[in-house]
Amino acid sequence: MPVPPSLDQFRGFFRGEFERAVPELEGEDRIPPRLLEQAARLGVHRLSIPPELGGFGLSLPELLPYLEAAAEGPAPGRMIVHLSNGIWRPIAGYGSPEQRQLVTELAEGRTTVAFALTERTGGTGRDLHSRAVRDGDGWRLSGEKHLITFGDRADWFLLAAASDDRRARDSLTTFLLPRDLSGFEIDASQRTMGLHGTGHAWLRYQEMWVPDRHRLGEVGQGLEVALSFLDYSRISLSACMVGLARRALEEAIAYSQRRVTFGRPIAERDAVRAHLADMHADVEAGRGLVRAAAEAYQAGSGVAAAAATAKLFCLHMVGRVTDLALRVHGGFGYTTDAPIERIYRDARGFWFEEGTAEIQQLVVARHLLADTAPAS
Ligand SMILES: Cc1cc2nc3c(=O)[nH]c(=O)nc-3n(C[C@H](O)[C@H](O)[C@H](O)COP(=O)(O)OP(=O)(O)OC[C@H]3O[C@@H](n4cnc5c(N)ncnc54)[C@H](O)[C@@H]3O)c2cc1C
Repeated sequence: MPVPPSLDQFRGFFRGEFERAVPELEGEDRIPPRLLEQAARLGVHRLSIPPELGGFGLSLPELLPYLEAAAEGPAPGRMIVHLSNGIWRPIAGYGSPEQRQLVTELAEGRTTVAFALTERTGGTGRDLHSRAVRDGDGWRLSGEKHLITFGDRADWFLLAAASDDRRARDSLTTFLLPRDLSGFEIDASQRTMGLHGTGHAWLRYQEMWVPDRHRLGEVGQGLEVALSFLDYSRISLSACMVGLARRALEEAIAYSQRRVTFGRPIAERDAVRAHLADMHADVEAGRGLVRAAAEAYQAGSGVAAAAATAKLFCLHMVGRVTDLALRVHGGFGYTTDAPIERIYRDARGFWFEEGTAEIQQLVVARHLLADTAPAS
């Protein structure tokens, strides 16, 4: 069985080659092709893909340290690891034999699949405004998506649309669409506050003809297909938040030992030491919740609540930790010469990626109330 890269090797790549490319990532807002080639050679796409589909077969608990390590480096790196090790799940779980073949290409880093749910006009889930209307042996798709990560270069898009107007649980259908489909407009001009290099795009399609073979899963199974990515992704993103928060703490510790005021390193001041201790406790608490959620995923029970709990906590945790890390840096931290400036901006993206804190609160509260609902 093929062996995954060691964690040291893996971290070395994201903290080394990837980190050195920050000026290009920030300046050009795209990942240099040489880094994509190196990432593929290292096997970053295939960590959790099953061996029979060309991967190393790591379980989610085994994947966590890799996600954390990638997230210590610049955001596009962890985004590759997060997306590649998640998007294969709906394809392998619901795809036709032809679609499943794509997973082996994903494993080798030869193809990129983006996840396309969010719309400017509609909400997510049942409120999607994209429409898929049956037309002979295919579909007519109309609507738009935005903020689609790696939309600038993805070869395929896993896209959800409403296949009827009932706005019911079984009203969504998912499609796996090739980029070159006639009538598929992809506009990668969307600029974000941070996460530079992750290539966000608008997708637009009006009456776009889609052969039925591009449908992923059964008609009406779209929510289930999307959730098979989202349950993983909430845990995976939480692990990334732990990694980025740990990096912010590391930067704060190093800076506090370097920076001297009134003849002493600020690390000797009680106020600064208290910040560092609070940050450490926050990171460790987040890591514990992520581990518990990954174990629930592995056991196949209680995943939705555990994943939403981990994400809810980690969203606030990475916000608090990067706030404190910035404060420890003083005004220097607010300049682009300090890595914490980019880390701070990148951390704010987590508020939105694949579900806001408010949506996690809804999920957690729903489970709490269901658990205690009186029998009727
Ligand atoms: C860096 C980044 C990467 C992303 N990558 C992708 C991607 O690859 N694919 C993709 O499909 N999307 C992606 N997104 C989009 C992201 O998933 C959405 O921004 C997020 O889910 C929130 O949806 P929205 O922007 O439509 O916010 P809105 O739904 O407009 O929400 C606005 C506010 O209202 C609150 N709100 C909305 N509805 C409710 C409700 N029912 N109950 C309570 N509060 C509510 C929200 O919590 C939020 O505070 C990305 C976003 C970012 C920033």
